[in-house]
Amino acid sequence: MAIIFDDKKPISDYLKKPDIHPESFASLYKRQNAGLKLISDEMEQENKEQEELAKLNEKRFERKKKLLFDNLDLIFRHKDEILETPRYANIDVHYAIKGGGCYIGPISTAKQYHFAGTLVNINFKLGSLLELWDNEQFKIPCKCGGTAVIYYFSGSPLSGGSIAASICPHCKEQIHNIRNRSFGNYMGHLLLKLYENTEKVAKSITAKWTLAELEYEKKVSEGHSPIWYGKGAEFHGDGESCNLETMINELQLKEFAQQQ
Ligand SMILES: [Zn+2]
Repeated sequence: MAIIFDDKKPISDYLKKPDIHPESFASLYKRQNAGLKLISDEMEQENKEQEELAKLNEKRFERKKKLLFDNLDLIFRHKDEILETPRYANIDVHYAIKGGGCYIGPISTAKQYHFAGTLVNINFKLGSLLELWDNEQFKIPCKCGGTAVIYYFSGSPLSGGSIAASICPHCKEQIHNIRNRSFGNYMGHLLLKLYENTEKVAKSITAKWTLAELEYEKKVSEGHSPIWYGKGAEFHGDGESCNLETMINELQLKEFAQQQ
């Protein structure tokens, strides 16, 4: 390998451009003697563990998707109750629906936002999924006489052609070659639900903060020390968290109790 050195430029020009010359030989030598790496062992360990976590989550979401699909009949029987109960309606089910197309790529149903260096996840919720399945676009008659729901679609925004997959809550039959339904309508309905989903989360956080400010003003006016009672101390979450496993168990126990 030949190293060509352009001596028309001062050496500092090369040092300023890390993409051309990432490091001079002199600083490489000094750095290595100091035992410092550009990517430390700790950074590599963190990346490795993040990859392991991602793999574990992939398996976890596959298991949850199967659980959800196996219990779709139970879920549909309790649809109204789920929609009226925030701790059920807000359960993350982003893994249960997939859509996208040529030129667009897959639609992200699990979004991560960074706010002031803090990670906020806004995932597609069970209530939104049940509302999405209310649209004719996402329903299809099943051989058993029941109504199947579409959980996967892909297509082309240019031709408008599409292919989709459905599952029947009643007989659990899956169909994988549903064709010729409007790709634009699939996209439109799913994106709308995703935006509504994000809006609900953002509005809820804003409302909680407004409440925290009011609580703080009240405490201060009551004579509490503003040093001990900051606005942040009055900021609270919904306190209504639940997961799919718990909800299914609660619904099954409820049906069992009703049968007695
Ligand atoms: Zn069926």
